[in-house]
Amino acid sequence: MSDGADRVETRLYVEEPLQAGATLGLDHARAHFLRAVLRLKRGARIAVFNGRDGEWAARLDALGKGWASLVVEDQRRDQEPGPDLWLVFAPIKRARLDFLVEKAVELGVSRLQPAMSRHTAVSRVNRERLVANAREAAEQCERLDVPEVGEARPLFDIMGDWPSERRLLVCSERSAAEPLSVVLQAAAGGGAAGAGATGGGKDPWAILVGPEGGFARSELDGLLKLPFVTPVGLGPRILRADTAALFALACWQAFLGDGAIRPAMRET
Ligand code: SAH
Repeated sequence: MSDGADRVETRLYVEEPLQAGATLGLDHARAHFLRAVLRLKRGARIAVFNGRDGEWAARLDALGKGWASLVVEDQRRDQEPGPDLWLVFAPIKRARLDFLVEKAVELGVSRLQPAMSRHTAVSRVNRERLVANAREAAEQCERLDVPEVGEARPLFDIMGDWPSERRLLVCSERSAAEPLSVVLQAAAGGGAAGAGATGGGKDPWAILVGPEGGFARSELDGLLKLPFVTPVGLGPRILRADTAALFALACWQAFLGDGAIRPAMRET
């Protein structure tokens, strides 16, 4: 059990470099959160992380109406690379999208890429909202980084400049796709699961989930022609897009990601 001196009240993602003695200024929203929501007082300790320098403890040095400053004290965790797993998804309606983003962050994705397809019901995506939700989820689940959030782009524009070394699992409820578990088991075992399977979670992977209206036939045909694509089935039921994404992400983590290893037991 860490003693009270080491206890931190909350975690905050910051942009600034982290080193002992650095001073961090907090914007209005974060200052308000610490002061009015958490009712923290001067001297309280907070964990801070920036996705590069690990996690540090920082002390609340001064705060007022709409502003606060922290002084970085000591490092608590080294930066560790997470799995290199993208989620490419057709945006869905706001409440479900907020849920999907939060769960994808908890499930360790390294990038969230909205993809506009023929039947996508949403005409625009509020990227700032996705970024804010992703940061909040990363703070809560004790990640040491926040996933990148791409601008929404047409599906085949994304495919057009796709990094060829990144395997893309296309969740397809209609085509004759192999069960996801079979594809992942083979990749985990290094076996050949269809053309171009790569072994293990150290490689770059991605998962694509369609909109509530599904992929158009022509979209699926176009996707299945791409060399880096493996279609996968998620079972006999038609899952909602958010359910399908979480199902696929969880399976990937269990077979290839860090969900397959015992968590490093951290001091509570
Ligand atoms: N309305 C569509 C279903 C879309 S479900 C229809 O009835 O045809 C939303 C997305 O979730 C799909 O595009 C697919 O990517 C994924 N999905 C849902 N159920 C799935 C399943 N059983 N297997 C694979 N992917 C699935």
